[in-house]
Parts: sequence; structure tokens; C-alpha cells
Amino acid sequence: MARGANLPAIAAFNETVVLDAVRRSPDGFSRVELAARTGLSAQTVTNVTRRLLDRGFIREAGTRSEGSPGKPRTILRLEPGGAHAIGVHLDPTVIACVLLDLAGAVVAQAHRPSPPDGDAAATLAAAVDAIREVLQTPGVDPERVIGVGVAAPGPIDAERGVVIRPPLAPGWNDLPLRDELAQATGLLCLVAKDVTCAAVAERWRDPAGASQDYAFVYYGTGVGVGLVLGGEVYTGSSDNAGDVGHTLVDPEGVRCSCGRRGCYGESVRPYRLVMQGLWSGVLTPPPGTAVVQGEDLRLDVETVDRLFSELAAAAEAGHTGAQEIVDRSIRHSAFFASNLSALLDLDRVVFGGPSWARVAPRYLDQLPGQLAELDTGVLTHGVAIAGSAIGDDVAAVGAAALVLDGTFSPRSILR
Ligand SMILES: [Zn+2]
Repeated sequence: MARGANLPAIAAFNETVVLDAVRRSPDGFSRVELAARTGLSAQTVTNVTRRLLDRGFIREAGTRSEGSPGKPRTILRLEPGGAHAIGVHLDPTVIACVLLDLAGAVVAQAHRPSPPDGDAAATLAAAVDAIREVLQTPGVDPERVIGVGVAAPGPIDAERGVVIRPPLAPGWNDLPLRDELAQATGLLCLVAKDVTCAAVAERWRDPAGASQDYAFVYYGTGVGVGLVLGGEVYTGSSDNAGDVGHTLVDPEGVRCSCGRRGCYGESVRPYRLVMQGLWSGVLTPPPGTAVVQGEDLRLDVETVDRLFSELAAAAEAGHTGAQEIVDRSIRHSAFFASNLSALLDLDRVVFGGPSWARVAPRYLDQLPGQLAELDTGVLTHGVAIAGSAIGDDVAAVGAAALVLDGTFSPRSILR
């Protein structure tokens, strides 16, 4: 936990330290406990908590005796409705928007299909529409909405809030996402990579969780990795860490856009699994489409998404052809997870993202065994495999949490 400092110049910093401590304690803290937790003097805690009470971020919630004689102490708790933040996730398939309260709970959500042609202006318009919808949630004061965090496929220029050449969404090339959305909504905006946001969400949910060193394998239209190392979300030198799409998992595999064969991203992305399903006859092609073995079809994002759902459902229902396709992607994921865990000494790999839930049962059933088989002699300890508990909107939740973090978490103020 961050420690405060007793200097007037950093009063705002102390507010974030105290608020962060209160947020992490479901039972609340007395002022005496807060002083012990934060390293701040009793007087500073009294001043800071008064300001936080005035702003409606915390409240007094009864009294408690803390084992020592003397009068019971007043307990301070977070006031979840004291502020809100919005998170938007732009995926080439779906636009997800969530409204989080100060405690990180999802209070409202809205979804829009991404424009099938990937048009940037139409994508922004859909995002703004979703933001307006969640702002109308009853009981939410728009004046108390701190800002909008946007999770976007990388690479990004985080300083300028611009998306740069996302490989699976060519229409968003050099899209000035932050400024456009800020102008349209009148709210402060920040842009972060979707995989980073996913890792932020996972860490917010469980800051002192089972592992301090884990990877979040983000499975959406493409695949990427968010990293939590030493308990901190790792973003890299240009905020673009986690681009694992071209990590080799199968030398005999399918040709990737980079010219090599068997890259992880290309091998497991939903489009690739759908094409394998069409070639093998497991999936029925859209009307009027001629399938030629080994030749990729141009399919819009909605069709890929629908066929991917059909493939996953067929595998769940016991169709062996569908199972072979999904299981191949699981083998590739096991190979990838093994290498990544060895490289970074991870003890946990969490899977999630908008395409994850459909294949989750089979992955969680097969992947640990595959990993154990591969890992003879590679890893010095076991690696737990888990599915994210946050659901399809994990990147949107993380983007909103990043806004709350930027406002209230001492770590980001120090950056
Ligand atoms: Zn590649």
C-alpha cells in the first residue's frame, strides 16, 4: 500500500492515498487505522477525510470499538455513488460501454455493433451514442462523471490519444480517438491499449489476489496479452506491451500477414477458426459464397462472429470436426502460455475478452492438461489457468477503472 507524506504541497496526493485505502477495505477504516495504514499524521488524516466527506466520496458509517478502551471510533466507508467513470471498448466487432461507480461496480452498460465496413466516423458516432445512453442512468449525476477511458486495439500513441494502424481495423488508421470523443461528449478522455485495460480490470477486482505475476490473454477479434508483474500492470516503453500476435506457435501453420507461418494471433483468432470450419465442412457458408479449400474468404465482422458462435456451440455439442478445430487452438494457446510463463516466471494465466466465453468451457477443460504435458522440464512450478470473472466487457471495465485510477490511485499521480 502507498504511504502518504505530511507536506501541504501534496494534499491532493494524500487524498488519493486515503481514498485508495478506504476503497480497498470493504469494512471501512477508522481515522486511527487510516493513519496507521497510510503513514499520515492523525491531523492530516482528519483534514483529508473532511475534504473527502465534503466531496461525497466517503461517508461516516457508524462506530466500532477496536479492542482498546476508550470511546468507539467512527468508521469511514467509500460512497460508491460519489463519482462515476465511463469505459468504452472499441473492438472491430462490437463497441462496449460501461459506467462504473467509485467502487468499480458496473452500474450501467450499452453495446453497439461496430460498423461492418470499419468506418471511423461511424464507429465514433456509435461510441458517442453508447456513452450518452449510460449517462442517462437514473441516479447518476453527469456532473460527477470524471471522464471516459477508451480501450482500443493497439498500437496506440497514448500521449496523443491516437490509434495507429490497428492490423484488424484498417479504417481506424491514425484515428484521433481521444480528442474526437472529448469534443463530442465534453468529458475528459484517455486512450489505452485494450489488453492493458483488461489487465487493469482484473487487478482492480482483486488487487491482492492469487497471483502478483500473471498474464491476461485477451481473446477478441485478435489476440493480445496484458501483463501484471510484481502486482503492477506493465505497459512497456511506449504503452504498447502485449503484442504477441506474431509469436510462433506452429512452424507448419497458416501463413500470417507478416509473411511467416504459424503466428499465435493468426492461428487462434476467431476468423481463422471460422475459415477452418468452412473448409472442413463443419460450418455452412453464407448464401452465395463459394468455399475453396485453403482460400480465405472476405467475411464481414458480424458473419465471422455468428459463425464463430456456431463453431463453438458445435464443439460443445460433441461435433468432432468442430472439436478438432477448437482443440488445435487450445494446443497453440498451451504452447504460448508455456513459453510466456517460463519467460516471465508467471504462476497464472487468465483468459478473457469478447470472444472468450464461447470457447471457455472447452479451454478450461483441456488447457491445463495440455500445459502440464508440454511443461515437462520447461517450468519449475505449476501455472494456474483461469477464465476472467469480469466477462466480455473486461476491456471497457478496465478503461473506466483506469480513469478512476488516474484520479484516485496514488500510483498514477506519481508517474
Ligand atoms: Zn505474423
